[in-house]
Amino acid sequence: MKSKIKALKLENLNILIEAVSQKYRAYGPVAKDGEHAFKVIDPESKLYLGCAATMLPAKYILQPVWQDLYSFKLGNGFQIEEPRLDEKLAVFGISPCDVNALLALDRVFGGKFADPYYWKRRENTLIVAANCTEVSKESFCTSWDTGPELYSNYDLLITELSDGYILEVGSAKGENVVAQLSLAEATQDDLNEKTARLDSARANTEKKLPVAPDNLHQFFRERFNHPAWVPNSDACFSCGNCTIVCPTCYCFDIRDEIMPSRNAGVRRSEWDSCQLLEFAEVGFRANFRRPRIDRFKHRTIHKLSWMKQQYGLTGCVGCGRCVRWCPSWPERRGRVTSLADPVEIIADLMEPLEKYKGVEIPVREAA
Ligand code: SF4
Ligand code: SF4
Repeated sequence: MKSKIKALKLENLNILIEAVSQKYRAYGPVAKDGEHAFKVIDPESKLYLGCAATMLPAKYILQPVWQDLYSFKLGNGFQIEEPRLDEKLAVFGISPCDVNALLALDRVFGGKFADPYYWKRRENTLIVAANCTEVSKESFCTSWDTGPELYSNYDLLITELSDGYILEVGSAKGENVVAQLSLAEATQDDLNEKTARLDSARANTEKKLPVAPDNLHQFFRERFNHPAWVPNSDACFSCGNCTIVCPTCYCFDIRDEIMPSRNAGVRRSEWDSCQLLEFAEVGFRANFRRPRIDRFKHRTIHKLSWMKQQYGLTGCVGCGRCVRWCPSWPERRGRVTSLADPVEIIADLMEPLEKYKGVEIPVREAA
């Protein structure tokens, strides 16, 4: 659907939240412990819409950390009860890179074996995205063209201006919300300010991938056994933070919880991480990714290259969360940012081999 552009003045943001909240359970980025997090909001909430690099991405609303898939009871046969997932959700302030991450998740959870839990929520969710008029020092979305501006795949899109907002309508769902409000058309000055703010955000995004995205597959093939993987993975704690905060990571485990009566229980899914030792453990404690270096390489290459081969969309959108939340000290590696930082991992792999003289790497075959 072609976007319609209307002006929404600052005092009207609450009116928009109020209109949306009548039909949807609304989430938005608000301050939490000096950072920002998606929380359930109301018209009084103070939303942060400049560049919402929230601690956890919005994926946790559509694919919760834990969710009951069904509960079961033994008795008169085997009875199953599934959760109702018909609640209407709205997410305010999803940044352009996170909307692009959702498109990647749509591919993962779609296709032949579509995940009904994800899709019920996804279809019931109103996306009220926000263009990033500020940039975090960790983000490199311009390298992937996933930010700071969004061009499609939203229901409503907000851009913050000095004295108000521009609100763009991108779908019939968005149009239904806006139809309840009486909003003036955006002026040419509003549109010029939007362009200027987003141009400035683009220009201020200093962090860049040192290799063009289209060349990354070949790049990693050629460096699959590069010795730089050794000191990097040696400094990794295998804590899984980099995957938990990543908007495109999707792995989960399934567990059954049996009640003490042993005739009832619940089947749950919970997020998992390829960085944890147990992730690739199979029968008889065999583990096809036991060495930490294998797990470290897997995360990096899967996000930056293999996911594109699998699903046609990048597994990294440059949000910078893994850079921000990796607890391994950069000083351990003589680096300035975190160990999980894709830009620095690539930079390390571009170093001449002489720098790693004496470092031995277990040779594996590149995929
Ligand atoms: S790999 Fe890091 S920068 Fe890329 S999308 Fe995931 S968290 Fe964001
Ligand atoms: S790269 Fe950093 S965040 Fe990721 S598992 Fe290792 S120590 Fe944890």
